[in-house]
Amino acid sequence: MASFLKERENQIVTKGKDSKDLVGGKRSAAGSVSQRACVFCGSRVVLYPIADALHLVHGPIGCASYTWDIRGSMSSGPELHRSSFSTDLREKHVIFGGEKQLYAALHELIDKHQPKAAFVYSTCIVGVIGDDVESVCKRVTKEKGIPVIAVMAEGFQGTKKDGYKIACEAMFSLVGTDESKEVSPFSINILGDFNLAGELWILTEYYKRMGVQILASITGDGRVNDVQNAHRAKLNVVQCSGSMMHLAKLMKEKFGIPFIKVSYFGIEDMSDALYEVASFFKNEEMTESARSLVTDELMRLIPALEPYKRALQGKKAAIYVGGAFKAISLVKALRLIGMKTVIAGTQTGNTEDYRLLQAICDDGCILVDDSNPVELSEFVKLTGADLFIGGVKERPIAYKLGIGFCDHNHERKLALAGYEGMLNFAKEVYDTVMSPVWRFTKRR
Ligand code: SF4
Repeated sequence: MASFLKERENQIVTKGKDSKDLVGGKRSAAGSVSQRACVFCGSRVVLYPIADALHLVHGPIGCASYTWDIRGSMSSGPELHRSSFSTDLREKHVIFGGEKQLYAALHELIDKHQPKAAFVYSTCIVGVIGDDVESVCKRVTKEKGIPVIAVMAEGFQGTKKDGYKIACEAMFSLVGTDESKEVSPFSINILGDFNLAGELWILTEYYKRMGVQILASITGDGRVNDVQNAHRAKLNVVQCSGSMMHLAKLMKEKFGIPFIKVSYFGIEDMSDALYEVASFFKNEEMTESARSLVTDELMRLIPALEPYKRALQGKKAAIYVGGAFKAISLVKALRLIGMKTVIAGTQTGNTEDYRLLQAICDDGCILVDDSNPVELSEFVKLTGADLFIGGVKERPIAYKLGIGFCDHNHERKLALAGYEGMLNFAKEVYDTVMSPVWRFTKRR
């Protein structure tokens, strides 16, 4: 195997060869050029889909540019979230402070866009110069009569995962502040689905067929008032547990709402997500509806997957995604279409997540935490992977190495959740792996 930084030796494991646990949750090793994003970015991606809120990045323009409408989170109504406003801090603000600039920007933007709430993101430079963002937010809250929430997510203070936690706390300050929505006895909140390419709407339809009300979707197609009412749901259903577990735990502690962890990718996990909700409500009619929904969907889906499975039989896949739950679902989904996972890694998994991931992978699979482009390229060459599943930062790695790529990150425009999502996934994988273009390029 290619050499890697000594500090990272517990973060790379080959199943069947190494007996040690893969260690997750560590800070990135200096010099490793991690694929991870910063704390600010972690908080921004979680809060981004709240469509009727103002999102103001307090910092230099560069921080905001990364989050300007690059995500596929769709809204059925307002679209204020797609604009990433910035206070555009310059040298003079670094010297004299940026609080006045922030105060003026908040007033101007709230007057112009009439948002239901505002999130103010503190970035690295704000942490360095020491602007009192919280006191500016408090002042504007009083003056404008809407919640103005400081998201203290200076990029340097940890990892993207710390940003998730900070975002959960910002959101939690809204939960329980309104009781105006009607609530059914079978109400749930969906946590950790970001409505990429409209996936939330697929899930909402399934739950509706079972008689379940989605009280708040946090944060896909999110609304401030839904989050304010979220404390009245009977159950929190948490996907992407890396980003939303903290909010689920906070809501359990304060409001006594239990939670379950689910995934909506692949047949098995999607079906479990429906059955688990039905079993929570202990309602025979709902269980029956879930059963007939799953049967109908599978009768359509299984024959449709067959041609892809035949063509892809024995092909090898590399996975490098944000969280471990998604990686686990992907290993199962790939197996369903005849493919073998030879690399499985994540940016933010913890040691416990990796035990579960390791358990379902085949012998010889390389498992990796918090990787970098050099390592990932070496692993692809070593294992002969035919496909890379990742996000915007992994796409060039795949194409440079001459193999197919499937985007499974927030930028994608194709729904991959639910039963129709599984079929889209098979088609997408087939199109990229079997593309004739690979006959004309040299695989490295
Ligand atoms: S690391 Fe700091 S400067 Fe870079 S994007 Fe994040 S908050 Fe902005």
